[in-house]
Amino acid sequence: MAEVYKNYINGKWVESKTGNTFENRSPADTRELIGTFQKSDAGDVNDAITAASEAFKKWRLVPAPKRAEIIYKIGQRLIERKEEFSQQMTREMGKVIKETRGDVQEAIDMSFLYAGEGRRMYGHTTPSEMPNKFQMSVRIPLGVTAMITPWNFPMAIPAWKMIPALVCGNTCVIKPATDTPLSVVNFIKVMEECGIPPGVVNMVTGSGGAVGEPLMTDRRVMVVSFTGSTGIGRRVSEACASDFRHCHLEMGGKNAIMVMDDAKIDLAVDGAIWGGFGTTGQRCTAASRVVVHKKVYKEFLEKFVARTKSLKIGNGLDESIDMGPAVSEGQMNSVLKYMEIGKNEDKAKLMCGGGRLTGGDYDHGWFTQPTIFADVDPEMRIAKEEIFGSVVSVIPFDNLEQGIEIVNNTDYGLSAAIYTQDVNNAFRGIRDVYTGIFYVNASTIGAEVHLPFGGTKHTGNGHREAGTAALDVFSEWRSVYIDFSGKLQRAQID
Ligand code: NAP
Repeated sequence: MAEVYKNYINGKWVESKTGNTFENRSPADTRELIGTFQKSDAGDVNDAITAASEAFKKWRLVPAPKRAEIIYKIGQRLIERKEEFSQQMTREMGKVIKETRGDVQEAIDMSFLYAGEGRRMYGHTTPSEMPNKFQMSVRIPLGVTAMITPWNFPMAIPAWKMIPALVCGNTCVIKPATDTPLSVVNFIKVMEECGIPPGVVNMVTGSGGAVGEPLMTDRRVMVVSFTGSTGIGRRVSEACASDFRHCHLEMGGKNAIMVMDDAKIDLAVDGAIWGGFGTTGQRCTAASRVVVHKKVYKEFLEKFVARTKSLKIGNGLDESIDMGPAVSEGQMNSVLKYMEIGKNEDKAKLMCGGGRLTGGDYDHGWFTQPTIFADVDPEMRIAKEEIFGSVVSVIPFDNLEQGIEIVNNTDYGLSAAIYTQDVNNAFRGIRDVYTGIFYVNASTIGAEVHLPFGGTKHTGNGHREAGTAALDVFSEWRSVYIDFSGKLQRAQID
């Protein structure tokens, strides 16, 4: 019998008021039941927000360094349980074990980064224009914050959001992705063990419509931090707009690697394999386009296709596997649809893959073939739309200007990379590619938690996750003026 997991509200593990549950099965082998989770609705969300509102009254007054001490313990506890949580994450999400270890590690890194931030959270002191007057700015928490998270980084993304929110003095209600609730349950259990007081963090599982909607539309929620598709992000933005509540949106990507004629080709191939097929292409920063200078196009393509054909696909718990399954049947079908679109485009040439992997154990999971289309026109759908799966489009170009134009030719702006030995090319790329993240001689994936993470255009709404940038999402500025002159002093007038 698989375990039944409950919601976490006001410091207690509770069943949903609906009395309904849903199953979570392994995408590598759907015969394996991971667990049964609460199929919640607006009633459970209301309870969680009420608990978070009440808990905020005390939590905001706990000194930030003390809040951060709990966060430090969370980081330590995650280290102790890293392997167990990684194994469970591979089972529920499908990505290979090396990558799920990295996912838990991001939660650890974020905990330690923000444990330090609890003793900084710097504001400003500035000289006043008046005599005998002091002034400073301080960060204040907002109140109840909501997190709506996707399945591709099941613990890292919840940590990126909840850890800074907590250190800033907010309380949290999280709705995990339906495909990966167990990793959030694991994270919440660690928080509970490390002494987060009741009501300060709450978790409600269930669908986007039944749980996400009432969560983001509740006026007691002061910030909605969302990571997911651009379509749902737009809905979050609209829900918050009417009463000016904050929202922080991290959405889709259509990232590109640019390979210059002076690039180290084998290094660029390494980057294209890792960026294109890591996490089965299901990363917001996945390199789903590789834009290659015509002088090295043939050499790059031959090597890239050969390496791709040698990738080992299977259950990510096996350490020798390079690529796991798609997260769900729906996600697999969406990727297969794009493979068909690519095959039906006149100009694009299918170099390898192009369908589902079947036979033997593959029949029990949602496996897609690593797929490369060559000679892709930058205007084709496979070159412009986010696929979020194991499909890479290779696009030729003539010169740097044209390459940059192709890289920018998308509605998204998350990540891009250039492979070159010429520092001038590198700096032109850094300056002219309009993305939130840029790599030189490294793939489009590989962000570290102490720099801002996020994108331009339809990828984000101007905020950034991680680094110190997350402080701006989860706190507001208060400017404080202290006049000790004992008389009326009028700024700009006296
Ligand atoms: P999604 O369908 O937008 O779902 C994201 C979250 O929103 C899930 O928890 C989902 O719940 C919830 N949701 C769905 N409909 C909702 C609604 N009407 N109201 C409120 N919440 C709702 O995205 P996904 O398929 O999970 O993730 C893939 C997308 O995330 C890709 O576009 C990818 O690029 C993006 N992503 C971006 C970043 C970044 O940092 N920029 C990072 C990772 C992923 P259910 O799970 O119950 O449907």
